[in-house]
Amino acid sequence: MPDLETKDTVARVLTGTDEIPAYPRLGKFANMETPRIVTTSWDDGDRADLRLAEMLRSREIQGTFYVPNTPYAGRPALSHADLRTLSSEGFEIGAHSVSHKLLWGLSAEELAREVNPCKPMLEDILGTEVRMFCYPCGRYDSNVMRALEAAGYWGARTVRMLSTRLEFNRFEMPTTLQIIPQPKSSYLKNVARAGKIEGLQVFLANMTRLDNWLDLGKRLFDSVLQNGGMWHLYGHSHEIEKLGLWDDLAEMLDYVAKREGVTYVPNCELIRLRSTRGRHAGNGKL
Ligand SMILES: [Zn+2]
Repeated sequence: MPDLETKDTVARVLTGTDEIPAYPRLGKFANMETPRIVTTSWDDGDRADLRLAEMLRSREIQGTFYVPNTPYAGRPALSHADLRTLSSEGFEIGAHSVSHKLLWGLSAEELAREVNPCKPMLEDILGTEVRMFCYPCGRYDSNVMRALEAAGYWGARTVRMLSTRLEFNRFEMPTTLQIIPQPKSSYLKNVARAGKIEGLQVFLANMTRLDNWLDLGKRLFDSVLQNGGMWHLYGHSHEIEKLGLWDDLAEMLDYVAKREGVTYVPNCELIRLRSTRGRHAGNGKL
């Protein structure tokens, strides 16, 4: 098998079982026998996302921007024109609820008001399908997952970290790392809440690096290079700005960019690339 296949070849292979069309405007797929995937995602639709997009664009790294329909915390938000430009460049735009309200525990009517309109509203702005959703503050329950499936989303991203496996319920997409320095106890709380053995294993294997997110991110990327899997970085541009992390982010992105054998995709492609085992994990057909 050649090192690089065209997106059409891979789409044909992968859609044999899923019948899910590949994301438009993707570049080359690396060898998919042992996938090595890099994706990134950015929440809240802040204007500072434009700086993020420039950093990703110059390194040919893909990403998904999750945008609520009303400006997050009253901050300057991406305009409709910004969203159209990002989408036309191949970045994915995903939904992040109408008002960034926490979704768990809402009544069916309240839930529908938050998750149903944001998909068609964004699709009207973009002129393209909105496939992914991201839970505000990572909070969700089985009612929220069902509401998202009924609304026609392909999947949803959580805030679960320390995951590199392409095995997950499509409405519980994990991440590898968040851009923000945090104490060991936050990682432990995160993996405990997720209740997945993988997270605990990664936590224990990286105990000495948890105080340095940049070092942790590099080592987790190295393990994906070696063993296959996904490396998923997520964050908030307003936080990066507030904490002065732009240089750290540049170093992290430089480390993972333009690597041979690595495929760079937006979040929705992970839904298609999940292993068969992952497709059947969790809630039945989800
Ligand atoms: Zn958010």
